[in-house]
Amino acid sequence: MKKLLWTLPVIALTVAGCSSTTSDAAAADDSLTIVTSTQVWADIASAVAPDITVAPIVTDGDSDPHSFEPSAADMARVSEADIIVVGGGGYDSWLYDSLPEDDSRIIHALDLSEHDHEGDEADTDEHAGHDHADVDNEHVWYSTEHVASVAQDLADKIVKLDPEAQVTPEVVTEKMNELHNSIHNIPAVSYAQTETIADHLLSHSELVDATPAGYRASTLSHGEPTAADIAEFQDAIRNGDIDILINNPQSAAAVSTSLVELAEENNVPVVEIYESPQSDENFLDVFTQAVDDLTAAANQV
Ligand SMILES: [Zn+2]
Ligand SMILES: [Zn+2]
Repeated sequence: MKKLLWTLPVIALTVAGCSSTTSDAAAADDSLTIVTSTQVWADIASAVAPDITVAPIVTDGDSDPHSFEPSAADMARVSEADIIVVGGGGYDSWLYDSLPEDDSRIIHALDLSEHDHEGDEADTDEHAGHDHADVDNEHVWYSTEHVASVAQDLADKIVKLDPEAQVTPEVVTEKMNELHNSIHNIPAVSYAQTETIADHLLSHSELVDATPAGYRASTLSHGEPTAADIAEFQDAIRNGDIDILINNPQSAAAVSTSLVELAEENNVPVVEIYESPQSDENFLDVFTQAVDDLTAAANQV
C-alpha cells in the first residue's frame, strides 16, 4: 500500500511530461524528419540539428545529382518529410518540381526554378573585383552566404515546428564566416576551371579567372566544348597563363582528364573541388579542404 502511494506521483509526472509535447502535430511520431536532395545539404542540416533524423535522397556518391531520377520510394519519403532542404536553381529540381510552389516545408538556397541554364552567364563574368556579385550558378553549396542563410532558415523552421528542439545554426554560420575570410585572403593568382564548380567561392576571392570564355560557356550549359575551345585552354596551360587548374574529379569527362594531365606535365598545380562529399566525409570538411588547397596552391605560385 505504502509502495503504491509512492509510485503514483511518479507516474503522474511522467504522463504530464509526455503530454506537454504531444499537442504538437510534428511530434506525432516523436520527432521531425528532414529530407534533403544531396549529402551536402544533409551534412549542413545535421550540423544545425544534431538530434533530428536527416536523410538525403541521393545517397550514392557516384550518382550525378545533375541528372538524378528519384524513385517512387524516394518521392514517398519527400512527401512524408516535415522539412525538405534543397539547393534550388534547377540543380535538384527532380525533387521539388512535382511539389506545390508554395510548399512551406521547403528550405532552399536558390529559387526553385526548373533545370534551365539560359541566362546563367549573365552575372558570372562580372565577379572580378570581388564585389560579392550575385553569382548565378547551381553549385550554390560553395557559397558561404547561401549556406549560412540556409542553416539559419532551417533552424528557424525547426524551432517553429518544435519549440523544444535543440538547434545549433552557429556551428554552420561561424564556419562560413571563417571560410569567407580565408577565401578573401587567397593570393591573387590566375585560375581556370574544367567545370564551373567553384564560381560562388571564387567570386569572393582575389583570384583571376583565366578560363577561356568559350570553354567556360560550354561547361556552364552542360554542353561539349568545341575543339577550338579545348585548344585555347591547352595553349593557356602551356603558355603559363593559368597558375592553378581547378577540377571536379566527380564529373571527369575525357576533356577535363586530359587538361588535368597537361597541367601536371606543365607543373601547374591542380586543385580538386568535389561535387559531393564521399560517404565517409562531411561537407563542412570538404569545403574547408577546398579553401585550404586553393590557398596552398596560390601561395606556391
Ligand atoms: Zn566576400
Ligand atoms: Zn556540377
